[in-house]
Amino acid sequence: MTERVVIIGSGPAGWAAAIYAARANLEPLVFEGAQTEENRLSGTLPLGQLNLTTEVENYPGFAAGNLTQFLETAIPEGQRKYMAPHSGHGVSGPELMELMRQQAKNFGTRVETDDIVEVDTTSRPFKLKTLEGKEVQAHSIIIATGARANYLGLESEDKYKNYGVSACAVCDGALPRFRNKSLVVVGGGDSAMEEASYLTKFASTVYLVHRRGEFRASKIMAQRALENPKISVKWFTGVEEVLGDEKQGVTGVRLKDLKSGATEDLAASGMFCAIGHTPNTNFLKGQLQTDDKGYIVYTKPFRTDTSVEGIFAAGDVADSYYRQAITSAGTGCMAALDAERWLGAQGVH
Ligand code: NAP
Repeated sequence: MTERVVIIGSGPAGWAAAIYAARANLEPLVFEGAQTEENRLSGTLPLGQLNLTTEVENYPGFAAGNLTQFLETAIPEGQRKYMAPHSGHGVSGPELMELMRQQAKNFGTRVETDDIVEVDTTSRPFKLKTLEGKEVQAHSIIIATGARANYLGLESEDKYKNYGVSACAVCDGALPRFRNKSLVVVGGGDSAMEEASYLTKFASTVYLVHRRGEFRASKIMAQRALENPKISVKWFTGVEEVLGDEKQGVTGVRLKDLKSGATEDLAASGMFCAIGHTPNTNFLKGQLQTDDKGYIVYTKPFRTDTSVEGIFAAGDVADSYYRQAITSAGTGCMAALDAERWLGAQGVH
């Protein structure tokens, strides 16, 4: 049997694509990823980056805070009886992903908890291979495999992931272990500026560690960070090792002055990496056109077409700029509509 559309990935882009494809009677097959230790360590488990976050306050439709009060002002009295009782909490990343997954399944989406490890884009139909060794054929493919946060690649960093080492200040910054303590943010781009500024809400001091003598970040964001009295910049500096112990997790970092080679141990209860993201495109083995960082390139303006006809992309795997749940869901919807129309034009219904 040849699938009409296979969707690879299970973040908001993948599920939005599945909801639209299922409602178009395309009976999509989603490969949501495998539950492997390797995927856990690289941050590529099923349900994507949102599954690694806590509260989501900016996804339209899920107002945080006391929703009942909000609804009383927003919805006319006669219509409130249609509203379900609400606990007052918005939605968490994992909840949002489970809701999207269920919504896709309700319309007949089939889901495999397996990774696609190989795609042959030269054959028609396309041929796909999974980690478990299954082979699948598909007339069209939607790639929604997202991106993962980069880490420095130190052994000590791996050891303290979730014990003080993070790549998401917004997800983890409010944890008690970081309150009124010194923290380290690594990087010099907009993300590093944003993370450092955000962490000053909780930390006593944020050390912004950057390997060069100037930031890559936009002027305005760099200026905001430089003017923040709680941020102290360590220029021309690298992190050589994350220090810590079993009981407390991270207790500091060993910094290296990249000019003189001198090292210094700095006390800190956390280290946040903000050194960019890597799109999950390795499995494509260069068969689709990507940019220099590996992000899939859209080949038509305002469409989700890729360089191979019949293969569409959605979400962060093709977006290094917006990287939001709502934009991913939006392009997921677009990819399903593009796939449906393309299949129709090929006479596949
Ligand atoms: P980025 O712009 O690629 O910056 C990555 C930073 O990490 C660079 O300063 C880089 O140093 C440093 N870095 C990379 N690898 C490193 C390593 N192995 N060791 C130490 N440092 C390393 O990534 P980003 O900050 O995540 O931003 C990505 C995109 O999102 C950008 O287009 C950005 O404008 C956008 N963004 C926008 C906003 C906003 O407008 N609110 C917020 C966040 C992100 P070098 O400078 O030396 O290369």
